Amino acid sequence: MATSAMGKMRRKGLAIMAVQTVTPAPVASVDLGPATALSCRECGTRFDLGPIFACAECFGPLEVAYELPTGDPEALRKRIEAGPNSIWRYAPLLPVPADVATKPNLNPGFTKLVDAQNLAKELGVTGKLYVKDDSGNPTHSFKDRVVAIAVEAARAFGYTTLSCSSTGNLAGAVGAAAARAGFRSCVFIPHDLEQGKVVMAAVYGGDLVGIEGNYDDVNRFCSELIGDPLGEGWGFVNVNLRPYYGEGSKTLAYEICEQLGWQLPDQIVIPIASGSQLTKIDKGLQELIKLGLVEDKPYKIFGAQAEGCSPVSTAFKAGHEVVRPQKPNTIAKSLAIGNPADGPYVLDIARRTGGYVEDVTDEQVVDAISLLARTEGIFAETAGGVTVGVTKKLIEEGHLDPSLTTVVLNTGDGLKTLEALSGTGQTATIRPSLDAFRAAGLA
Ligand SMILES: *Cc1c(COP(=O)(O)O)cnc(C)c1O
Ligand SMILES: [Zn+2]
Repeated sequence: MATSAMGKMRRKGLAIMAVQTVTPAPVASVDLGPATALSCRECGTRFDLGPIFACAECFGPLEVAYELPTGDPEALRKRIEAGPNSIWRYAPLLPVPADVATKPNLNPGFTKLVDAQNLAKELGVTGKLYVKDDSGNPTHSFKDRVVAIAVEAARAFGYTTLSCSSTGNLAGAVGAAAARAGFRSCVFIPHDLEQGKVVMAAVYGGDLVGIEGNYDDVNRFCSELIGDPLGEGWGFVNVNLRPYYGEGSKTLAYEICEQLGWQLPDQIVIPIASGSQLTKIDKGLQELIKLGLVEDKPYKIFGAQAEGCSPVSTAFKAGHEVVRPQKPNTIAKSLAIGNPADGPYVLDIARRTGGYVEDVTDEQVVDAISLLARTEGIFAETAGGVTVGVTKKLIEEGHLDPSLTTVVLNTGDGLKTLEALSGTGQTATIRPSLDAFRAAGLA
């Protein structure tokens, strides 16, 4: 391999590039709507649409290239608004066939954008503050968006088994989507996840395998499985179908802007695990600008991590271009990826847009979960606590402008991580008598 390619490889430090899948071969005639090819993020080489994820020239990650419906933005806006109340209203901008909404699927997305006035007051925000609440998805996390797109790719490439390496939420999303769409599923998680995530991943009837190790071990295992005959015919949504999977996160950008009346927010705070979601939200915003669906103006993208797994915020603050892997130790298990595949791209985007990447302690995560719950009636999982906690810290540090329009993502439901709130419970326990209630002093 050329030394320059090696250098890039090292900079990008890709966590999942080791092995290309051998079967099935790229299918020349797949119908994935406006998607025309896969293109390398590093060197731009193009490949036919297929279940491949790393560039054969430089090992850079591949992403979906499109022929998007340029032309009359007003007509496109109307077409979208007339579409279903799910991510499929954006089918013209996604790698899916035009009739996607008629296929058996979970119809995720179009979740609430909550005008968070109470939280704004508490945080000293004088502009507008919104919470994009993705706990409202079918399996209660944002992962239903990415899985729905990967399922369409799996159908197109003829896979019959769906699989993934997961920090918890993805396993549940794959299990449910497979059940609805008629695939077998076999998914892999670290063995020590929260009970809510384990039950959510197992209940849909697919196979759930706990791996003795952390997420990075699970991911490495899946990369090996893909290159082995054991994994033949398996579509790993976040490995060999990763280019398609990632595109699902663009729908968060589309929805936020549409729900703001086809306007860009000034600032968005996004949690980081592998960094895929953050990079694809940026891609979605760029597309909306290019298509003339929103006015072109600057926006800032902020990344949020837990201190116990903060490889990207550490690199950001140190001014590094490379992300040094860490061994995760945090209650925010859905974000606990110590070697994030898209880490360097997150750094690029935060720096290019004038944003920042920050982290908070587990204690601050728990405080932020309570803060969001008591101000807005939204019960977030630990990842949402990370994002709200980081938002508070960014305002205190002066990185985030409280006079502008800010959107904070809640990517998962608090019922999945009840363990984090183990100290939360009954205010009092009393005998069923008025005297006892009077004595408790709560009237
Ligand atoms: C997976 C996940 C994320 C972000 O994942 P990326 O790998 O960065 O795309 C954020 N929040 C929750 C709850 C998740 O499950
Ligand atoms: Zn390349």
